[in-house]
Amino acid sequence: FLSHSLQAKMSRPVQARRLEGIDKNIWVEFVKLAATYSKVNLGQGFPDFPPPDFLTEALTRALGGGNHMLHQYTRAFGHPPLVKVLAQFFEKLLGRDLDPMTNVMVTVGAYQALFCCFQALVDEGDEVIIIEPFFDCYEPMVKMAGGTPVFVPLRPNPPKDGKLMSSADWQLDPAELASKFSERTKAIVLNSPNNPLGKVFSHGELGLIAELCVKHDVLCISDEVYEWLVYDGKQHTRIASLQGMWDRTVIIGSAGKTFSATGWKVGWAVGPDRLLQHLRTVHQNSVYHCATIAQEAVAQGFQRELMLYGKPESYFVQLPKELQQKRDWLVQSLDGVGMKPIIPEGTYFLVADISPFKSDVPDVPNSDEPYDSRFAKWMVKNKGLAAIPLSAFYSEAHKNNYTNFIRFCFAKEEATLKAASDILQKWKQEKNS
Ligand code: PMP
Repeated sequence: FLSHSLQAKMSRPVQARRLEGIDKNIWVEFVKLAATYSKVNLGQGFPDFPPPDFLTEALTRALGGGNHMLHQYTRAFGHPPLVKVLAQFFEKLLGRDLDPMTNVMVTVGAYQALFCCFQALVDEGDEVIIIEPFFDCYEPMVKMAGGTPVFVPLRPNPPKDGKLMSSADWQLDPAELASKFSERTKAIVLNSPNNPLGKVFSHGELGLIAELCVKHDVLCISDEVYEWLVYDGKQHTRIASLQGMWDRTVIIGSAGKTFSATGWKVGWAVGPDRLLQHLRTVHQNSVYHCATIAQEAVAQGFQRELMLYGKPESYFVQLPKELQQKRDWLVQSLDGVGMKPIIPEGTYFLVADISPFKSDVPDVPNSDEPYDSRFAKWMVKNKGLAAIPLSAFYSEAHKNNYTNFIRFCFAKEEATLKAASDILQKWKQEKNS
């Protein structure tokens, strides 16, 4: 007979070993700080403007229309209308025939598509190359799968003429990249357009990555959630369309980013059946299924976009046009106060150099917390403006490499951007007075 109190004394370790070292997450802290202190939140990546009417109308129709089966389970690997239209869309983009049932899988946001990739394709001891700075979940997801992340940095080459830096000025060193590939390398994670810098990898850069993948027989997990958010007439190249890459690439996308509805958490993976079949196994044994009604509405959104493809009325044409104006506006207002922006070629993020503001938030020598992180915390508490430190997008080993930058999200209403600019202007005046 065991008393209750004896039973309660559990001494065995409860945490699975695969969670060791990945239990901290900066988003929890920064989202909480923003919720508590921010008057203007340019931190986490989501729009504060509504999704397009055609999308919310599609959801309303799905909810109230005659088909009550949309409230029930649908096909586990993707609601048939959604996988069909995604296949049609990607056939156009990739110039190859796709089978909606085997080449497309719907996931709970791009996040779950990433998780499925790592769980399905990465084994104990495998190395996975990650380009720094990176969307922070890649590292813990690789580790949870038993893999070892191997980091390779984008290195800044500031322009000599005193012009503002562009995200294109952050580049891979080809020899350094090549040196990371070995027989242990299972996959490389590519994120173009890149969060946080907004870098859109050029055809040449992608060609180099593709060549190394083919040479070393390596898979490519290609996170393309910002595929439509590309500016200044630049083109987003899909690495899967390069020679030898379709067969070894999983393309990941997000309706959240594509249709400005991040809360819907609808994403997808597109790729060859020989890879997707294993993602389906993970999906089936974990999530199994995503909300039918959201999938139905996203399917209708894509049907509209397929009809309007390349036309001025297309949301995929209009959204980047609007965001480019917002980008230019934020670039100007940051430059005006001396917080030098790195002009992003894509995404809705912008990284800015905070060095001229160092006198307000003095550095603490030998602190374990990177300067940018302390700066971002100070800024939200004292100025009410939330942003994310760039060090959050580096591995633990490299988090002190670049600590003079913070990331802003500019997918915001004009009034929000204006309020941010007012805070910065006032701050600058206070500094000067
Ligand atoms: N990849 C990148 C690069 C992202 O920035 C994000 C969202 N911030 C995701 C994936 C996750 O997308 P979703 O919301 O569709 O899960």
